[in-house]
Amino acid sequence: MSNGEHLIDVENLYMHFPVTAGVLQKKIADIKAVDGISFYIKRGETLGLVGESGCGKTTTGRCILQLYDGIRGDIFFDGVNLSQLKPEQMRRMRRNMQLIFQDPFASLDPRMSAGDIIGEPIKVHNLAKGQEYRDQVAELFRMVELEPFMMDRFPHEFSGGQRQRIGIARALSVRPSFIVCDEPVSALDVSIQAQIITLLERLREELSLTYLFIAHDLSVVRNISDRVAVMYLGKIVEITDSDELYANPLHPYTIALLSAVPIPDPVVDRTRERIILTGDVPSPIMPPPGCNFHPRCQQAIDICKTELPELRNMGGEHWVACHLVK
Ligand code: SF4
Repeated sequence: MSNGEHLIDVENLYMHFPVTAGVLQKKIADIKAVDGISFYIKRGETLGLVGESGCGKTTTGRCILQLYDGIRGDIFFDGVNLSQLKPEQMRRMRRNMQLIFQDPFASLDPRMSAGDIIGEPIKVHNLAKGQEYRDQVAELFRMVELEPFMMDRFPHEFSGGQRQRIGIARALSVRPSFIVCDEPVSALDVSIQAQIITLLERLREELSLTYLFIAHDLSVVRNISDRVAVMYLGKIVEITDSDELYANPLHPYTIALLSAVPIPDPVVDRTRERIILTGDVPSPIMPPPGCNFHPRCQQAIDICKTELPELRNMGGEHWVACHLVK
Protein backbone atom coordinates (compact mmCIF):
# COMPACT_ATOMS: atom_id res chain seq x y z
CA MET A 1 0.00 0.00 0.00
CA SER A 2 1.38 3.46 -0.75
CA ASN A 3 0.58 7.04 0.18
CA GLY A 4 0.85 9.92 -2.33
CA GLU A 5 2.89 11.95 0.17
CA HIS A 6 5.48 9.15 0.37
CA LEU A 7 8.12 8.57 -2.30
CA ILE A 8 9.27 5.31 -0.68
CA ASP A 9 7.17 2.77 1.23
CA VAL A 10 8.91 -0.28 2.69
CA GLU A 11 6.59 -2.97 4.04
CA ASN A 12 7.72 -6.06 5.97
CA LEU A 13 11.16 -6.12 4.41
CA TYR A 14 13.34 -9.18 5.03
CA MET A 15 16.78 -9.81 3.58
CA HIS A 16 18.32 -13.06 4.77
CA PHE A 17 21.60 -14.23 3.23
CA PRO A 18 22.16 -18.00 3.18
CA VAL A 19 25.24 -19.43 4.90
CA THR A 20 26.45 -22.53 3.05
CA ALA A 21 28.99 -25.25 3.87
CA GLY A 22 30.49 -28.43 2.47
CA VAL A 23 31.25 -29.56 -1.05
CA LEU A 24 27.58 -29.37 -1.99
CA GLN A 25 27.30 -25.86 -0.54
CA LYS A 26 24.33 -26.92 1.55
CA LYS A 27 22.54 -24.11 3.34
CA ILE A 28 23.13 -24.40 7.08
CA ALA A 29 21.83 -21.07 8.36
CA ASP A 30 20.66 -17.57 7.43
CA ILE A 31 22.26 -14.23 8.19
CA LYS A 32 19.20 -12.17 9.11
CA ALA A 33 20.60 -8.86 7.90
CA VAL A 34 17.18 -7.18 7.68
CA ASP A 35 14.44 -8.85 9.66
CA GLY A 36 10.95 -7.51 9.05
CA ILE A 37 11.06 -3.71 8.89
CA SER A 38 8.53 -1.18 7.62
CA PHE A 39 8.96 2.56 7.11
CA TYR A 40 8.35 5.33 4.60
CA ILE A 41 10.24 8.30 3.24
CA LYS A 42 8.25 11.40 2.29
CA ARG A 43 8.96 13.28 -0.92
CA GLY A 44 11.73 15.81 -0.42
CA GLU A 45 12.73 14.66 3.05
CA THR A 46 15.90 13.08 4.39
CA LEU A 47 15.46 10.00 6.53
CA GLY A 48 18.57 9.27 8.60
CA LEU A 49 19.20 5.56 9.22
CA VAL A 50 21.56 4.95 12.12
CA GLY A 51 23.06 2.00 14.01
CA GLU A 52 26.31 0.19 14.75
CA SER A 53 28.03 -1.67 11.93
CA GLY A 54 26.31 -4.94 11.11
CA CYS A 55 22.84 -3.67 12.09
CA GLY A 56 21.47 -3.94 8.53
CA LYS A 57 21.34 -0.28 7.50
CA THR A 58 23.44 -0.61 4.34
CA THR A 59 21.53 -3.77 3.37
CA THR A 60 18.26 -1.84 3.80
CA GLY A 61 19.45 0.88 1.42
CA ARG A 62 20.57 -1.65 -1.16
CA CYS A 63 17.28 -3.55 -0.88
CA ILE A 64 15.41 -0.37 -1.81
CA LEU A 65 17.63 -0.13 -4.89
CA GLN A 66 16.89 -3.81 -5.62
CA LEU A 67 20.57 -4.74 -5.65
CA TYR A 68 20.00 -8.25 -4.23
CA ASP A 69 18.12 -11.39 -5.17
CA GLY A 70 15.93 -12.94 -2.50
CA ILE A 71 14.41 -9.72 -1.09
CA ARG A 72 11.13 -10.46 0.74
CA GLY A 73 8.45 -7.86 1.42
CA ASP A 74 7.22 -4.95 -0.65
CA ILE A 75 9.06 -1.81 -1.65
CA PHE A 76 7.04 0.89 -3.40
CA PHE A 77 8.75 3.69 -5.29
CA ASP A 78 6.30 6.47 -6.13
CA GLY A 79 3.46 3.95 -5.77
CA VAL A 80 5.09 1.30 -8.00
CA ASN A 81 5.80 -2.08 -6.38
CA LEU A 82 9.42 -2.73 -7.38
CA SER A 83 9.21 -6.48 -6.79
CA GLN A 84 6.65 -6.75 -9.59
CA LEU A 85 8.76 -5.02 -12.26
CA LYS A 86 10.31 -6.99 -15.11
CA PRO A 87 14.14 -6.64 -15.47
CA GLU A 88 13.85 -4.08 -18.30
CA GLN A 89 11.29 -2.02 -16.34
CA MET A 90 13.57 -2.16 -13.28
CA ARG A 91 16.54 -1.04 -15.39
CA ARG A 92 14.62 2.06 -16.48
CA MET A 93 13.34 2.65 -12.94
CA ARG A 94 16.89 2.51 -11.55
CA ARG A 95 17.64 5.84 -13.20
CA ASN A 96 15.42 7.45 -10.56
CA MET A 97 17.26 5.84 -7.66
CA GLN A 98 20.98 6.29 -7.17
CA LEU A 99 23.64 5.42 -4.60
CA ILE A 100 26.48 7.48 -3.14
CA PHE A 101 29.15 5.21 -1.69
CA GLN A 102 31.06 5.45 1.57
CA ASP A 103 34.55 5.18 0.11
CA PRO A 104 34.86 7.58 -2.81
CA PHE A 105 38.26 6.21 -3.81
CA ALA A 106 37.25 2.55 -3.99
CA SER A 107 34.08 3.38 -5.92
CA LEU A 108 35.80 5.36 -8.70
CA ASP A 109 37.55 3.48 -11.53
CA PRO A 110 41.19 4.68 -11.31
CA ARG A 111 41.68 4.21 -15.10
CA MET A 112 38.85 6.58 -16.04
CA SER A 113 39.05 10.37 -16.06
CA ALA A 114 36.71 12.26 -13.74
CA GLY A 115 34.75 13.48 -16.77
CA ASP A 116 34.24 9.94 -18.07
CA ILE A 117 33.23 8.68 -14.61
CA ILE A 118 30.58 11.39 -14.25
CA GLY A 119 29.41 11.07 -17.86
CA GLU A 120 29.27 7.28 -18.08
CA PRO A 121 25.68 6.93 -16.72
CA ILE A 122 24.55 9.60 -19.23
CA LYS A 123 25.90 7.41 -22.04
CA VAL A 124 24.52 4.16 -20.57
CA HIS A 125 21.04 5.66 -20.36
CA ASN A 126 21.44 7.44 -23.69
CA LEU A 127 20.51 10.82 -22.24
CA ALA A 128 22.78 13.07 -24.34
CA LYS A 129 25.45 13.02 -27.07
CA GLY A 130 28.13 15.31 -28.54
CA GLN A 131 28.21 18.89 -27.31
CA GLU A 132 25.07 18.41 -25.20
CA TYR A 133 26.84 15.53 -23.36
CA ARG A 134 29.94 17.67 -22.75
CA ASP A 135 27.80 20.58 -21.52
CA GLN A 136 25.94 18.31 -19.11
CA VAL A 137 29.17 16.89 -17.67
CA ALA A 138 30.57 20.43 -17.23
CA GLU A 139 27.36 21.50 -15.50
CA LEU A 140 27.60 18.50 -13.13
CA PHE A 141 31.14 19.59 -12.20
CA ARG A 142 29.84 23.06 -11.36
CA MET A 143 26.89 21.63 -9.40
CA VAL A 144 29.26 19.89 -6.98
CA GLU A 145 31.58 22.92 -6.83
CA LEU A 146 34.39 21.46 -8.96
CA GLU A 147 35.92 23.27 -11.94
CA PRO A 148 35.06 21.77 -15.35
CA PHE A 149 38.73 22.07 -16.42
CA MET A 150 39.41 19.19 -13.98
CA MET A 151 37.48 16.83 -16.25
CA ASP A 152 40.57 15.14 -17.71
CA ARG A 153 42.17 14.40 -14.34
CA PHE A 154 42.14 10.94 -12.78
CA PRO A 155 40.76 10.03 -9.32
CA HIS A 156 44.20 9.89 -7.66
CA GLU A 157 44.74 13.56 -8.58
CA PHE A 158 41.83 14.66 -6.36
CA SER A 159 41.55 14.98 -2.56
CA GLY A 160 39.16 12.74 -0.59
CA GLY A 161 36.49 15.45 -0.44
CA GLN A 162 36.81 16.17 -4.19
CA ARG A 163 36.50 12.45 -4.95
CA GLN A 164 33.27 12.32 -2.96
CA ARG A 165 32.04 15.29 -5.01
CA ILE A 166 32.77 13.26 -8.16
CA GLY A 167 30.76 10.37 -6.68
CA ILE A 168 27.87 12.75 -5.98
CA ALA A 169 28.02 14.22 -9.51
CA ARG A 170 27.97 10.70 -10.98
CA ALA A 171 24.82 9.89 -8.95
CA LEU A 172 23.19 13.15 -10.14
CA SER A 173 24.09 12.61 -13.79
CA VAL A 174 20.91 10.62 -14.55
CA ARG A 175 18.69 13.15 -12.75
CA PRO A 176 17.38 10.85 -10.00
CA SER A 177 14.65 11.80 -7.53
CA PHE A 178 15.93 9.51 -4.74
CA ILE A 179 19.48 8.87 -3.49
CA VAL A 180 20.74 6.40 -0.92
CA CYS A 181 23.70 8.15 0.73
CA ASP A 182 25.59 5.22 2.27
CA GLU A 183 27.86 6.73 4.94
CA PRO A 184 29.00 9.38 2.44
CA VAL A 185 31.19 11.25 4.94
CA SER A 186 32.51 8.43 7.16
CA ALA A 187 35.80 8.15 5.26
CA LEU A 188 36.44 11.92 5.25
CA ASP A 189 38.20 14.29 7.66
CA VAL A 190 35.83 16.05 10.07
CA SER A 191 36.49 19.44 8.43
CA ILE A 192 35.48 18.05 5.02
CA GLN A 193 32.43 16.19 6.38
CA ALA A 194 30.58 19.46 7.07
CA GLN A 195 31.27 20.72 3.52
CA ILE A 196 29.90 17.55 1.92
CA ILE A 197 26.80 17.58 4.14
CA THR A 198 26.18 21.24 3.26
CA LEU A 199 26.56 20.38 -0.43
CA LEU A 200 24.10 17.46 -0.14
CA GLU A 201 21.59 19.71 1.63
CA ARG A 202 21.87 22.38 -1.06
CA LEU A 203 21.44 19.83 -3.84
CA ARG A 204 18.38 18.36 -2.14
CA GLU A 205 16.77 21.81 -2.07
CA GLU A 206 17.71 22.80 -5.61
CA LEU A 207 16.91 19.46 -7.28
CA SER A 208 13.95 18.40 -5.07
CA LEU A 209 15.76 15.22 -4.05
CA THR A 210 14.77 12.69 -1.39
CA TYR A 211 17.54 10.98 0.64
CA LEU A 212 18.03 7.92 2.75
CA PHE A 213 21.12 9.02 4.70
CA ILE A 214 22.93 6.10 6.35
CA ALA A 215 25.42 6.69 9.18
CA HIS A 216 26.75 4.87 12.22
CA ASP A 217 26.89 8.04 14.26
CA LEU A 218 23.86 10.05 15.42
CA SER A 219 25.84 13.30 15.41
CA VAL A 220 26.38 13.05 11.63
CA VAL A 221 22.70 12.72 10.72
CA ARG A 222 21.43 15.32 13.17
CA ASN A 223 21.53 18.38 10.94
CA ILE A 224 20.66 16.82 7.63
CA SER A 225 17.75 14.53 8.65
CA ASP A 226 14.07 15.44 8.93
CA ARG A 227 13.39 12.11 10.63
CA VAL A 228 15.73 9.45 12.00
CA ALA A 229 15.31 5.66 12.24
CA VAL A 230 17.53 3.71 14.64
CA MET A 231 18.32 0.10 13.68
CA TYR A 232 19.59 -2.71 15.84
CA LEU A 233 20.29 -6.22 14.57
CA GLY A 234 18.05 -6.08 11.52
CA LYS A 235 15.14 -4.25 13.13
CA ILE A 236 14.02 -0.65 13.55
CA VAL A 237 13.81 0.08 17.28
CA GLU A 238 12.86 3.77 17.15
CA ILE A 239 11.82 6.21 14.43
CA THR A 240 10.69 9.80 14.80
CA ASP A 241 11.30 13.44 13.83
CA SER A 242 14.93 14.42 14.15
CA ASP A 243 14.29 17.15 16.77
CA GLU A 244 12.09 14.82 18.81
CA LEU A 245 14.70 12.03 18.76
CA TYR A 246 17.45 14.26 20.12
CA ALA A 247 15.20 15.96 22.69
CA ASN A 248 13.21 12.92 23.84
CA PRO A 249 14.85 9.58 22.95
CA LEU A 250 12.83 6.69 24.36
CA HIS A 251 14.51 3.42 23.40
CA PRO A 252 17.42 2.40 25.71
CA TYR A 253 19.62 1.76 22.64
CA THR A 254 18.97 5.24 21.22
CA ILE A 255 19.63 6.77 24.65
CA ALA A 256 22.97 4.92 24.83
CA LEU A 257 23.96 6.02 21.31
CA LEU A 258 23.03 9.63 22.08
CA SER A 259 24.99 9.62 25.32
CA ALA A 260 28.15 9.08 23.23
CA VAL A 261 27.50 12.09 20.96
CA PRO A 262 29.73 15.02 22.01
CA ILE A 263 27.98 18.23 23.12
CA PRO A 264 29.58 21.54 22.03
CA ASP A 265 29.35 22.93 25.62
CA PRO A 266 32.37 21.39 27.46
CA VAL A 267 30.81 21.91 30.93
CA VAL A 268 27.59 20.08 30.02
CA ASP A 269 29.58 17.47 28.12
CA ARG A 270 31.78 16.70 31.17
CA THR A 271 28.91 16.36 33.62
CA ARG A 272 26.38 14.28 31.71
CA GLU A 273 26.02 10.54 32.11
CA ARG A 274 27.58 8.32 29.46
CA ILE A 275 26.07 4.90 28.90
CA ILE A 276 28.70 2.42 27.83
CA LEU A 277 27.25 -0.44 25.82
CA THR A 278 29.07 -3.58 26.84
CA GLY A 279 29.56 -6.58 24.57
CA ASP A 280 29.34 -6.75 20.81
CA VAL A 281 26.24 -6.75 18.65
CA PRO A 282 25.08 -10.43 18.71
CA SER A 283 25.37 -12.52 15.56
CA PRO A 284 22.59 -11.93 13.03
CA ILE A 285 22.74 -15.69 12.33
CA MET A 286 21.29 -16.45 15.75
CA PRO A 287 19.78 -13.27 17.21
CA PRO A 288 18.77 -13.48 20.88
CA PRO A 289 15.11 -14.40 21.54
CA GLY A 290 12.64 -11.75 22.69
CA CYS A 291 14.04 -8.23 22.39
CA ASN A 292 17.31 -8.78 20.59
CA PHE A 293 18.88 -5.88 22.53
CA HIS A 294 18.26 -7.57 25.92
CA PRO A 295 21.79 -9.02 26.45
CA ARG A 296 23.19 -5.44 26.36
CA CYS A 297 20.27 -3.52 27.87
CA GLN A 298 20.72 -2.21 31.41
CA GLN A 299 16.95 -2.01 31.87
CA ALA A 300 15.98 -5.49 30.65
CA ILE A 301 13.24 -7.29 32.59
CA ASP A 302 12.04 -10.91 32.32
CA ILE A 303 9.59 -10.37 29.45
CA CYS A 304 12.42 -8.90 27.34
CA LYS A 305 14.05 -12.34 27.13
CA THR A 306 11.03 -14.05 25.61
CA GLU A 307 8.75 -11.54 23.86
CA LEU A 308 9.66 -9.42 20.89
CA PRO A 309 8.47 -5.83 21.49
CA GLU A 310 6.38 -4.45 18.62
CA LEU A 311 7.12 -1.03 17.14
CA ARG A 312 4.32 1.03 18.76
CA ASN A 313 3.18 4.59 18.20
CA MET A 314 3.94 6.98 21.07
CA GLY A 315 2.05 9.91 19.56
CA GLY A 316 2.65 11.90 16.39
CA GLU A 317 5.31 10.23 14.28
CA HIS A 318 7.22 8.74 17.22
CA TRP A 319 7.44 4.91 17.12
CA VAL A 320 9.37 2.76 19.61
CA ALA A 321 9.88 -0.99 20.14
CA CYS A 322 10.47 -1.48 23.87
CA HIS A 323 8.39 -3.23 26.57
CA LEU A 324 9.19 -0.49 29.09
CA VAL A 325 8.07 2.47 27.01
CA LYS A 326 4.36 3.08 27.51
FE1 SF4 B 1 15.66 -3.15 26.99
FE2 SF4 B 1 13.56 -4.73 27.32
FE3 SF4 B 1 13.25 -2.40 26.12
FE4 SF4 B 1 14.54 -4.39 24.89
S1 SF4 B 1 12.40 -4.34 25.47
S2 SF4 B 1 15.17 -2.27 24.99
S3 SF4 B 1 15.60 -5.33 26.62
S4 SF4 B 1 13.86 -2.74 28.24
